[in-house]
Amino acid sequence: MNDASPGCGHPHSHTLDQLGWTADHTEAFAQYTGPYLPGRVACRQKTAWEVLIDRGSVMAGVSGALKRLGRFPAVGDFVVLLHQPEAGTSVIVDILPRTTLFTRGSPGREGTDQVIAANIDTVFIVTAAGHDLNARRIERYLAIAHASGARPVVVINKADLADDPAALAGDLGPGASGIPVLPVSALTGEGIGGLGPFLAPGKTVVLIGSSGVGKSTLINRLLERPVQDTGGIRDYDGKGRHTTTVRQLFILGGGALMIDNPGLREVGIGTASAGIAGTFPDILDLAAGCRFHDCRHEEEPGCAVREAVAGGTLPASRLESYLRLTKELAFQQEKSEIGLVRYERKRWKAIKKQARHMDTTESRF
Ligand code: GDP
Ligand code: ZN
Repeated sequence: MNDASPGCGHPHSHTLDQLGWTADHTEAFAQYTGPYLPGRVACRQKTAWEVLIDRGSVMAGVSGALKRLGRFPAVGDFVVLLHQPEAGTSVIVDILPRTTLFTRGSPGREGTDQVIAANIDTVFIVTAAGHDLNARRIERYLAIAHASGARPVVVINKADLADDPAALAGDLGPGASGIPVLPVSALTGEGIGGLGPFLAPGKTVVLIGSSGVGKSTLINRLLERPVQDTGGIRDYDGKGRHTTTVRQLFILGGGALMIDNPGLREVGIGTASAGIAGTFPDILDLAAGCRFHDCRHEEEPGCAVREAVAGGTLPASRLESYLRLTKELAFQQEKSEIGLVRYERKRWKAIKKQARHMDTTESRF
């Protein structure tokens, strides 16, 4: 097994410290004496969590007490395991205090089961030279990063496509002032060294940004080997079907930890549509008078928005820019969903490869 993908029943050589454990965790864990083990969640499924422990990993469930409180561990969480190797079971009985938190819905607040990832030190907001470089979009991602408590760093990828990479930072607008901005090329490796200070051993990072900006390419570059080369873990869903999930926390060559999961890949999309309401309150007010509640204000009969344009109370240019933006958002969303499917497919391939390998290993016994 390679070092990038410890766990999932495979031995790994990493210590707790290397998984990001700090003196604060030691202090918080001190109250647990007895058959308790500390660990870090690398993967979450409906009913099972993969927890990396000192030089090993276990699959664990969650205690009834945590379930009743609606406290479910997320990828990146440091947890307390009640470890009973004789019984062959491990149960997560507590979640140690989180330093930072990515949530769905209400940002920064700990919802019942809305946590996407925890304990992230740095968020790389990835954008790309060319059309993705958009000050408003960066501001949106900066707001998400700030809400999580993690430190944001803007990475402008595809610097190889720019005539003057050093000038790219100037396109970000005032919202990014005081934030480190690093032009890189995941393709050529140019500028990647500049990420080094944010990738110290034991520090945890995530990549967020629109689909197509090069996040996967960047992860592969940082791993110096394909990220998809990870093992699957097995679980049964509520209907007794066999499901497989891929680990979402891995260790980079230099010792930093990277979390990558579908929730993080989707972060920002919902926020983007919320931004429309703030930008076009006049149109949304008018839309309340449309005959159809899902009116697109194009050719539908009884459209109050088009009536306002015809009557001269709403400038036609205003409706045009609204339509342009909603279409762009729908396109972005579709694109990122397509990206997700492609991503999962790649991971499935790796799992199948590994399963075949395991079959041949087992047949020797
Ligand atoms: P993701 O959706 O953010 O994960 O983006 P991908 O990593 O899948 O990359 C999208 C496309 O951009 C692919 O065709 C990559 O080969 C390309 N790409 C990624 N990084 C770079 C780069 O630094 N320079 C150039 N020119 N292309 C890149
Ligand atoms: Zn309408």
